[in-house]
Amino acid sequence: MSRSTFSIGGVHPHDNKLSRDCRIEVLPPAPTVFLAMSQHIGAPAKPVVAVGDKVKVGQVVAEPGGFVSAFIHSSVSGTVKSIGPRKDLAGNPVNCIEIAVEGDEWLEGIDTSDKLVTEIPSDNKAIIEKIRLAGVVGLGGATFPTHVKLSPPPGSKCERVIINGCECEPYLTSDYRVLLEKGEQVVVGAAILSQVMGNVPCTIAIEENKPEAIAHVSEVIAKLGYKGIEVMVMKMRYPQGSEKQLIDAVMHRQVGSGALPISVGAVVQNVGTALAVYDAVQKNKPLIDNTLSVTGECFPRQANLLVRVGTPFQYIIDFLGGMPKEAAKVISGGPMMGKAVSNLEAATLKGTSALLFLTEKQTRRAPESACIRCGKCADACPMGLEPFLLQKLSRIADTEALEANAAQDCIECGCCLYSCPAHIPLLDIIRTGKGLALGAIRARAAAAKAAAEAAKAAEAAKPSVIPSEAKESKK
Ligand code: SF4
Ligand code: SF4
Repeated sequence: MSRSTFSIGGVHPHDNKLSRDCRIEVLPPAPTVFLAMSQHIGAPAKPVVAVGDKVKVGQVVAEPGGFVSAFIHSSVSGTVKSIGPRKDLAGNPVNCIEIAVEGDEWLEGIDTSDKLVTEIPSDNKAIIEKIRLAGVVGLGGATFPTHVKLSPPPGSKCERVIINGCECEPYLTSDYRVLLEKGEQVVVGAAILSQVMGNVPCTIAIEENKPEAIAHVSEVIAKLGYKGIEVMVMKMRYPQGSEKQLIDAVMHRQVGSGALPISVGAVVQNVGTALAVYDAVQKNKPLIDNTLSVTGECFPRQANLLVRVGTPFQYIIDFLGGMPKEAAKVISGGPMMGKAVSNLEAATLKGTSALLFLTEKQTRRAPESACIRCGKCADACPMGLEPFLLQKLSRIADTEALEANAAQDCIECGCCLYSCPAHIPLLDIIRTGKGLALGAIRARAAAAKAAAEAAKAAEAAKPSVIPSEAKESKK
């Protein structure tokens, strides 16, 4: 099999897949769960339950707050205890529904059996509606509502669905375990996505360091007999699983600045999302749980856990034996793109992929020194940016120059930071500059929209024919 990869930049961190051989374990529900209203890109969801309400597993507790938003379902059965702000993993307040767990009663109509359902319904509109109602969002990091991605704007056409099974971030193994243990469901999910997008070909992209998953998924495709689905073996290279890099590797097409994958005919979904699509369409099961890795050299028990959405981090840690005293830092996600956890009382979200524990030594940063203009950061940048320049512009908050140098295109992969011999915290600094550039772009777009709406309103307010002029013209 040939191995494919993206064109420019990238790095090769050690993969450290410590939990790769740990089978997925089901974590029992916590005594209390906290469902955040903002766990997807777009408008926060709006609660539709009240304090004191009894809820079942799979019941809608919040509805979408806009077009780009998603339903949220109870991941447990019990009583709604509170609705209000609660601190997230970084200590910022986010609106949450707190549910005290009582038993484990599921909503009727959800198929909880292990039976594989391979026959796909033919009505694509009904499929997309099922995915919407199930609150499915992208589980590869972006948490973009999946039904929106599956409804391309007029004039755009999908030519290929890509299922991202690369899991290129070090330490993470949950997608790998899902491919091994739920490969059938993932392949049916891929077939559903391919059908919905117009029976287009579908590529399941898996990095070469997962030969068992490559072999298993290839066998499943042959066994289930869906046409047009293939496995593509990818070279091990970070950030291979990033959307634009994956499209480049699979289709040899470049997604332009600010453009969506559909602009080059691609729809990319993660392995976990394909599984969630299967669950939604074939089993009527909303997105109420996901698989995450719990890992790190200092963590005594490596694991891949199926966790109900809204489970407090502390509960997961206690289940696995408690916090190791060597752990100095906890990260939600991988070491390259994950977020530091400062509040262990925070709860998992639909998109939580891992809890990673690092020692003080592993997190210690060498002192920053002056840039030696080696260009390694630019060589490593998969977006073709000049990180050394962007960090300079970010430090002086030169918004215009940041935008001109495409700071808004930074995918926050951290390759520049990883490569810099001067240990300059490039990503941390560039992230601020990216915010400035994006702020300017959004402000301009909002002003243009407001001006267009004002012009439209003024046009509508004009009388269609001025009576006196009309009489004049008749003369
Ligand atoms: S973090 Fe941004 S600037 Fe740095 S390598 Fe990645 S895309 Fe380039
Ligand atoms: S890698 Fe670091 S030292 Fe080298 S050019 Fe980039 S910022 Fe400067």
